[in-house]
Amino acid sequence: MIHDNVWTTYGKEDIEKLEKLSAGYMEFLDRGKTERECTELIVETAKKHGYRDLAEVTAKGEKLGRGDKVYAVNMGKAVMLFNIGEDIVNDGMNIVGAHIDSPRLDIKQNPLYESDELVYLDTHYYGGIKKYHYVVMPLALHGVVVRPDGTKITISIGEKDGDPVFFVSDLLIHIAKEQLEKPGSTVVEGENLDILVGSRPLEGEEKDAVKAAVLKLLKDEYGIEEDDFISAELEAVPAGKAREAGFDRSMILGYGHDDRCCAFPELTAMMEVDKPKTTSCALFVDKEETGSLGATGMESYFFEYMVREILFSMGISSETELGRCMRNSRMLSADVTAAFDPLYASKFEKKNSAMFGHGLTFCKYTGARGKSGSNDANAEYIARLRQIMDKHGVAYQTAEMGKVDEGGGGTIAYILALYGMQVIDCGIAVLSMHAPWEAISKSDLYESYKGYKAFLTEG
Ligand code: MN
Ligand code: MN
Repeated sequence: MIHDNVWTTYGKEDIEKLEKLSAGYMEFLDRGKTERECTELIVETAKKHGYRDLAEVTAKGEKLGRGDKVYAVNMGKAVMLFNIGEDIVNDGMNIVGAHIDSPRLDIKQNPLYESDELVYLDTHYYGGIKKYHYVVMPLALHGVVVRPDGTKITISIGEKDGDPVFFVSDLLIHIAKEQLEKPGSTVVEGENLDILVGSRPLEGEEKDAVKAAVLKLLKDEYGIEEDDFISAELEAVPAGKAREAGFDRSMILGYGHDDRCCAFPELTAMMEVDKPKTTSCALFVDKEETGSLGATGMESYFFEYMVREILFSMGISSETELGRCMRNSRMLSADVTAAFDPLYASKFEKKNSAMFGHGLTFCKYTGARGKSGSNDANAEYIARLRQIMDKHGVAYQTAEMGKVDEGGGGTIAYILALYGMQVIDCGIAVLSMHAPWEAISKSDLYESYKGYKAFLTEG
């Protein structure tokens, strides 16, 4: 149903389920701050629910059929789950797809330098950020360092009580007259987003003694040499846990809602799908925030190749049948949209904006400047989805991101649409999207879970 505020419709049982889902989600956010960490969590959850590694299944030459559950991991940064139904070729698949990468600061390949007895890690920001958001805030460092011999060192510093954190400094207000006259886009420059990581010199060292001390520490504690930054993926993210927000605890403030607030209910719904008639599929991809390119982004052929592997394991190997399977599929591109913000009301067209507490948001199209670059979902498909959502009592709303010509954004929707399948954007309204701490309503998280489950069960 198109809903007004959904909170007032909840009974005790709904509230209990909503709080349980929210608590699980907050733990997911705390443990999954990067695409690699999210992939690990998703695989761990899937295994508990009887999912097997598709690579192992195919290596053994095992046959797949109805009721089989498999997962496929792409370079540790993306993962796809399949629960096989009756007729994968003619029924296609019910696909829900979210991304698990989020905006942040990536450490450069040659990052470490000393300047005036302070040591920094140089960064290049990832995804769309307001650069001034990332100064004077505790940052944690997550990722991997891979040594030439293949040893992989996993890093997570700044999350546990007692861990040190890192930060980018900002110019003090007292002498910031000129800085404050700059436009917001340059008030903090991208090249100035360097993270302070040390200030204590190594005894007996003359030149760059602080850098020498940091390098010694990295060597002693982690076995990392300076050159090892070349083969590392280290991400600086806001340090700390997701929190309930508001006197009424109706909201969640957290890092990476975009798009983990869709990934988590998608995963939860997928785990509850039991022997579906139509094959259900959950995609969790990387690199959406930089345009879905690269081997782990949605534009990679990985998904198609995995579908080929599954069909092959089912004794189906014709191109025609692969095409049919893809074309006959339906997809929810599970991504966030902008929540209406009364403080910036003039940037929205209110009746076509997503409101907190009004449920799952469908966006027929996204894009910018005349819907440019967007998928545009079919009316017939939307009608079918209305029927499913109504049948399962899911509260939903429709929205565009902001007023016409105010800007815009994109998702992975157009990439799946290349196969000729039905695709629509469908996710959660977020306040302060892409800020270090974004906010969502718990009720929208709950309605999304209900909506994704209804779709996966009978899309
Ligand atoms: Mn997104
Ligand atoms: Mn985004």
